Amino acid sequence: MPEFKYPVYRPNLTGNEKRYVNECLDSSWISSKGAFVARFEKEFAAYVGAASATSCSNGTVSLHLALLALGIGEGDEIIVPTFTYVASVNAIRYVGATPVFVDSNLSDWQLDVELVKRALTPRTKAVMAVHLYGQACPMLELAELCKKHGLYLVEDCAEALGTRIGKSHVGIVGDIGSFSFFGNKTITTGEGGMLVSNRPELIARCAHLKSQAVSPERTYWHDAVGFNYRMTNICAAIGTAQLERINSIVAKKRALAFKYRDELAALSQVIFHDEQPGTTHSFWMVSIRVADETTRDALRQHLAKNGIETRPGFPPSHFFPMHSAFAAGQVFERGELLGATTMNLPSYPDLSSLDVEEICSHIRNFFGVH
Ligand SMILES: *Cc1c(COP(=O)(O)O)cnc(C)c1O
Repeated sequence: MPEFKYPVYRPNLTGNEKRYVNECLDSSWISSKGAFVARFEKEFAAYVGAASATSCSNGTVSLHLALLALGIGEGDEIIVPTFTYVASVNAIRYVGATPVFVDSNLSDWQLDVELVKRALTPRTKAVMAVHLYGQACPMLELAELCKKHGLYLVEDCAEALGTRIGKSHVGIVGDIGSFSFFGNKTITTGEGGMLVSNRPELIARCAHLKSQAVSPERTYWHDAVGFNYRMTNICAAIGTAQLERINSIVAKKRALAFKYRDELAALSQVIFHDEQPGTTHSFWMVSIRVADETTRDALRQHLAKNGIETRPGFPPSHFFPMHSAFAAGQVFERGELLGATTMNLPSYPDLSSLDVEEICSHIRNFFGVH
């Protein structure tokens, strides 16, 4: 694989990560017991303003645990945007529920609340709101709708650490919020996930299920089909160190995004994934949209030739063979357009202003604008 001068992502591990991992090694607490697990959970809950949090092994199983904790299963319909990362939909399938796809807005790339209303049936049990690429979904509207119809609201915040609506962090408006700490996410533990909620009984249920559903009263007694979805102390040590620098990481990513937007301001061919009024976009990925798929792919190729890695927008989930039957032949025009015409630019916190200027000069060259 060619080395890119500018990869799409590269985590910054220059804080206490090494020191805390060495503490795990020196003390031999390397598995899923150890002081960093509880510390990371507590500090993460405090950062997002949640009453309760529990860690797990990645952001996909955290969605699985969230749906299990809510008692969602066969026969239940869960409304989910088709324009999302596939894990959101996979988790719905893990519990045997039915994904009901809805289209997204071209303005914010998030699920369209009007279409959520139209997708409701007597079997609808929950809405999965995915805060895609760091922009918040319209949560106040969704929360009101879910309350009115007695639905659960699950937030997939894997791409939205640092994302806010007003002053509140995403993940605690709905019943339960799920985060990912994969290597390219805003903070990383290598692989890892976290569930947050202001309903501590839901988090307790997730914690029970992630640890083989072991009885609190009786040793080696299990009272449900549980899982081993625990986070290790080593991962939590890395997460604790990452979280110490979350404010500076998010501030750097926002500054980068605005620098990109300024550099590309003269290009009418490029539509920036912009911050919506009343929200704080954490810019997990700096994302743009162009006219069509041919232009997007040619731009990506032009940038690759110049040492700049980019990533295409997610293909809509109803395109995948294992999920397509749930779309029942429907066309999701905007999700399909977004999947074909969007791309992510290098978005890691250590990019400098000069780096962004260099990347943007190649984008301007591609469009013949100087
Ligand atoms: C990354 C991601 C996940 C899954 O997280 P992993 O930690 O990679 O399992 C889920 N949903 C969305 C929207 C994501 O971007």
